[in-house]
Amino acid sequence: MHTLSPQHRVDIPSLTIVVPCYNEEDVFFFCLSELKSLLEKKIQEKKISVHSHILFVDDGSHDKTWTLIEQAAQADRLVHGIRLSRNRGHQIALMAGLSCTETDISVSIDADLQDDIECIPKMIEKYMDGNEIVYGVRSDRSSDSFFKRWSANSFYKLMEIMGIQQVANHADFRLMSRRALQNLLQFEEQNIYLRGMVPLLGYRSTQVFYARKERSAGESKYPFYKMLSLAIEGITSLTIKPLRLISLLGAITCLFSILISIFVIVQKFYGHALLGWASMEISIFFLGGVQLLCLGVIGEYIGKIYMETKHRPKFFIQDKV
Ligand code: UDP
Ligand code: MG
Repeated sequence: MHTLSPQHRVDIPSLTIVVPCYNEEDVFFFCLSELKSLLEKKIQEKKISVHSHILFVDDGSHDKTWTLIEQAAQADRLVHGIRLSRNRGHQIALMAGLSCTETDISVSIDADLQDDIECIPKMIEKYMDGNEIVYGVRSDRSSDSFFKRWSANSFYKLMEIMGIQQVANHADFRLMSRRALQNLLQFEEQNIYLRGMVPLLGYRSTQVFYARKERSAGESKYPFYKMLSLAIEGITSLTIKPLRLISLLGAITCLFSILISIFVIVQKFYGHALLGWASMEISIFFLGGVQLLCLGVIGEYIGKIYMETKHRPKFFIQDKV
C-alpha cells in the first residue's frame, strides 16, 4: 500500500473538504459559498494545491440537496459530489466521502458550518508541522440548547465510564493525512463510530479550538434517538465493558442471595416466622428484570456479531459529479 511518510510531505498539499448532507437544501448555498471562498483564498495563497476541492456527500436526501450539488459541480470544478443510494446516517456518509478522497489531506465538516471554517487553515498549518490528525475541539457550546449540551455531556461521561478514549468535545470536524485516512479505511466494520476509531490509529495528532456556532439554517438532523443510537454504536463498537459489568452484577447478586439464605436459615433456627410471600415475589421480579436486562445487552453484542459476519457493503454510490 502506498503511504506517505512525514518526510515525504509535499510543500503545497492538496485538500478535500468532505461535507455529509442530509436534507440540507436550506444551508447548501451558504455552505458552498463559505467553503468555496476559503478554498479559493488558500489556493491563491499557495497554502493548498489547485487540485483541492469540496466533496459533498448526499446521504439519500429527500429534498433538493442532490440537484443543488449537481448544479454546483457543473458550474465549478472545485465542487465534487457523490450521492448514496439511500440514507445511511452521518457516520457512513462520512466514510463514503472519505473513501473517495485521493488528496494529500482531508477535512470533514458538517454542512451547517457550526464548526468554524477558520480552523481549517490552522489545521493545515498543524499538518505541515508534522501532525497526521488534527481534531477540531469545541471550547464553547453556549450556542447549543440546554438539552443538546446536557445530552452531549452525559454522552461523553457515559463513554468515559465505559473506558472509551476519545477527544472530549470533538465531533467529526477533523483533518487527516492521506496515510491516516488509508489506515482508517482498512477498518472493515459495519458498526462505525469515527470519533472512537480515529484515535485508535495512533500517529502524531493535535487539536485546534473554536466556539461552536448556531446552525446557519434548517434544523438539526440529529434528534435525540439518533444521538442515543450513536452512543450505543460507540459503546458496542469499542468496548466489551458492558458484558463485564453484567458478570460483575451477576456475581454480586449471587453473593447477595447466599447472604439472604444464611439469614433465613439463622432465622429458622431461632424460630422466627419465615419471610413472607411478598418479599419472594419482589425478588423473583427483580431478578427476572436483571436477567432480561443482561440478556438484552448480550443480545446487542450478538446482534452486532451477526451483522459483522455478513460483511455487507456499507454503502452504494448512486451518482458522482
Ligand atoms: N447528516 C447525514 N445523515 C444523517 C443525519 C445527518 O449526513 O442521517 C449530516 C447533516 O447533513 C450534517 C451533519 O450530518 O451535515 C451533522 O448533522 P446536524 O448538524 O443536523 O447534527 P447536530 O449538529 O445537530 O448534532
Ligand atoms: Mg449541526
